[in-house]
Amino acid sequence: MTAVQSGDRSTIPGEYRLFFQPESQDLMNLHEYQSKEVFREFGIPVPAGRAAKSAEEAVAAAQSLGGKLWVVKAQVHAGGRGKAGGVKLARDLDAVRAATADMLGQRLVTKQTGPEGLPIETVYVESGSAIEREIYLSLTLNRERGRVAVIASAAGGMDIEEVAAHTPEQILRVDIHPAAGLQGYQCRKLAFGLGLKGPQIGKFQSILMALYRIYQERDAALIEVNPLIVSNGELVALDAKINIDANAMFRQKALAAMRDPSQEDPIERAASEHDLNYVSLDGDIACMVNGAGLAMATMDLIKLHGGNPANFLDVGGGATAERVTAAFKLILSNKKVRAILVNIFGGIVRCDLIAEGVMIAVKQVGVAVPVIVRLEGTNAEQAREMLAHSALAITPATDLTDAAKKAVAFAANGRK
Ligand code: GDP
Ligand code: MN
Repeated sequence: MTAVQSGDRSTIPGEYRLFFQPESQDLMNLHEYQSKEVFREFGIPVPAGRAAKSAEEAVAAAQSLGGKLWVVKAQVHAGGRGKAGGVKLARDLDAVRAATADMLGQRLVTKQTGPEGLPIETVYVESGSAIEREIYLSLTLNRERGRVAVIASAAGGMDIEEVAAHTPEQILRVDIHPAAGLQGYQCRKLAFGLGLKGPQIGKFQSILMALYRIYQERDAALIEVNPLIVSNGELVALDAKINIDANAMFRQKALAAMRDPSQEDPIERAASEHDLNYVSLDGDIACMVNGAGLAMATMDLIKLHGGNPANFLDVGGGATAERVTAAFKLILSNKKVRAILVNIFGGIVRCDLIAEGVMIAVKQVGVAVPVIVRLEGTNAEQAREMLAHSALAITPATDLTDAAKKAVAFAANGRK
């Protein structure tokens, strides 16, 4: 949720994910098993594995893989699965069956999912690896420099944000010049920094070059390998995460077919269908605003007056009655909402048209929570009059502070 972050974006690589990654709806996530398929295609070593959607399939997968150690991994669009019980080692087929049965049909809550978690509909059964070392490796866009950055750390397998926060000296980074591409010396610099020796250095270079090719040829926005392990002296990608730039889906048909809507926020998905910019948040005051900047300011004021926004919603410059209605429906599909704050600046649009839209929407959707409306700009006076004379329970506000205070008060009342 980059939309609600702020701060110094220049130095701390661990914050890359927050600052350099586009908003969730601008990305398409791949599952680990799908990402590893892409890795295989580009010659990056990964453990043998198979996806499974039932305990029987998982056991059959383990049998066909052979060996004596397997790993059952929940396939959800989030990391941090290991600590959340979503990665389990199994030493026999019964353990594979049990681990799979435990996971399928559950929702996995990890550090990255939020309290409601994500549904586990698929597990990935992999041949177990002996781990000698865990390395962190990722490629993402450094927007400030307009270059793809490679981030690496010998402290792999852990939460990289923690490493960046507490031991930033353990984070290595090189930026790739777009014309020159990833250079051999850059790969070697990272390999030396990671303490790789002998043939591992050349292998690391091949892997990193392949990752950069994936990044470019598959329109990736983020590729993360955490951990890249050393196993029997060989480098192996033990985990894999690829995020694709959603704007490139038209030319990434094979990847588009891998999309898994079960992992997406249903409200955010519906929003994108209506061209509304929506991000779910944890609070209970819904916001409907035209313009991203005004939406941010609105959320700030709600916070300032002691409330919590339920969402970020930018209905855009061309807010019509139809879109306002769609926006109300979206807002109300979140059951936590106890008040709705509509904040529209009538610059391009006229306030009287917005007021009309709000009234139609409130009538059609049957809004049961208080609606506070602040309209400013062209025909604002007329719009306020219309709202005041409607039979609907719409509370007008004179300015943004007034609107925020009223919304916070209504929400607090609703909680009682
Ligand atoms: P994440 O927690 O969602 O990032 O999932 P990972 O795929 O990174 O797995 C989490 C952790 O499980 C890894 O850092 C390893 O420590 C452990 N793990 C995963 N696969 C294996 C394996 O094949 N063998 C061993 N020994 N540990 C594994
Ligand atoms: Mn991982």
